Amino acid sequence: MSNVRRIGPSSENTRSAILDLVRSSGTVSRIELAEMSGLTATSITRIVKSLIDDRLVIETGFGDSTGGKRRSLLEINPQARYAVGISLEDTRLTYVVTDVGGNVVGQLVSPGIGQSAPSTEILRIADELQQVFQQLDIPTEDIVGVGVAGAGLDLGAGAERLSLTADEWDSFAVQEALESLISLPVVRDNDAACAALGQFWVGRIPATQDFATLYMSRGFGLGLMIGGSVNRGASSNIGEIGHMVVDIDGPDCWCGSNGCLEMLAAPRAIIARAMAEPGLADDLGLGGDDGRLRADYDAIARAAVRGDERCVALIERSARYVAAAMLSAVNLLDLDRIYLAGPGFADAGAIYVRAIRDAVTRLARTRTIHGVTVELSDPGLETSAVGAATLALQHVLTPHTRAERASARGEIPVRV
Ligand SMILES: [Zn+2]
Repeated sequence: MSNVRRIGPSSENTRSAILDLVRSSGTVSRIELAEMSGLTATSITRIVKSLIDDRLVIETGFGDSTGGKRRSLLEINPQARYAVGISLEDTRLTYVVTDVGGNVVGQLVSPGIGQSAPSTEILRIADELQQVFQQLDIPTEDIVGVGVAGAGLDLGAGAERLSLTADEWDSFAVQEALESLISLPVVRDNDAACAALGQFWVGRIPATQDFATLYMSRGFGLGLMIGGSVNRGASSNIGEIGHMVVDIDGPDCWCGSNGCLEMLAAPRAIIARAMAEPGLADDLGLGGDDGRLRADYDAIARAAVRGDERCVALIERSARYVAAAMLSAVNLLDLDRIYLAGPGFADAGAIYVRAIRDAVTRLARTRTIHGVTVELSDPGLETSAVGAATLALQHVLTPHTRAERASARGEIPVRV
């Protein structure tokens, strides 16, 4: 049985591991849980009882009879707990409330953080969170916490965070400020890791299915889900694929290297080429300045989807670089499943999917052994917000809690 996940009986995370098996199975019997986990029927009975007592799992009816006794089936009780995820983007903030089944039960979109001072914006975020709770009529004690997804490296407290758009947000302690305003635990992670996590939950992907999520916003990030948990690397900064060198003679990058994927394929690079194309800026109403980055990029992407040949060429050029980088990622990591997420793929995602599929089908070293599935992420723009909510839920719901807690900034007390 290929999907058996052996769970040691001494593991402190046994309970959450069983809860995760219930979640990823949809409905499942105690006998199946015993088979999947390798635990004894007695242990499963005891753990399931404690999960039912805490309302996290419910009995939902009966499965097929197995020679006499009917098997009662178990399911996650979605309404047991809730979490909020916030995706911090310069052009919009997305708030998503999910239940423990990974279902989105509420959503609010508001203007992005733009150029405003974090100390002002954080007050607005706290207000908007209160609005969300009130509108959904969720008791505060049922909310396990708030997850925040944002771009950039997480270098830990006191360290300078490097990013192209370095501003006050880079050194601002979002987590601490928000925690003190809303009196709920707050955790944060980068948007690519959150998007992978969101895909994992919303897509009901079993922990045995590893995959990567390529996130595109102003730059690129690669989130890796390995064994049902976000892979983090030595300092929680895994997946900086935007600084993979795809042209050793390419333009200088702000990171110190040159020919990085970001410099050749990210929205800013595409816009720069569009501005140099005679007449195109006028035709599409492009501004070319940094404050208009998202609007300009979206205009180019939409024109490409409409078939404007100049824009198709610009996006396809970017997509070829992205495909080359992803081909290297596939070869390095032996991936067989890739999702694309983030605002950068909102309009012209299909062009990128096509380019990556083409590259890996023709060129991946493992092409004769297995295919590579390349798809747009299910929840579209909301993946990273959903993943941020999941980050907050993880402490209640998934195994690997300790590893996650050590690397994700902040602690969420487990309210179970
Ligand atoms: Zn770079």
